Amino acid sequence: MGINMTKIDFSQINKTAADSFNQQRNVIKRIAKGQTVLCETCDKPLTLSVLSEGESGVQCSKGCTQINLELEQ
Ligand SMILES: [Zn+2]
Repeated sequence: MGINMTKIDFSQINKTAADSFNQQRNVIKRIAKGQTVLCETCDKPLTLSVLSEGESGVQCSKGCTQINLELEQ
């Protein structure tokens, strides 16, 4: 009986996470500048909203895109 190990390429996962983090930051920057950014899924404009103290988010009206961010104090 052998041991079946599943290899996971963490470097690829980390790269993807970093890419999506940068992408999210770009989206937030563009909205903060007053530019219109459309949801990739439903093509509705994304809006910036304050969820709670020190935390805000970007979302579309349908909710398929939802980016939460903590504001740096
Ligand atoms: Zn959407």
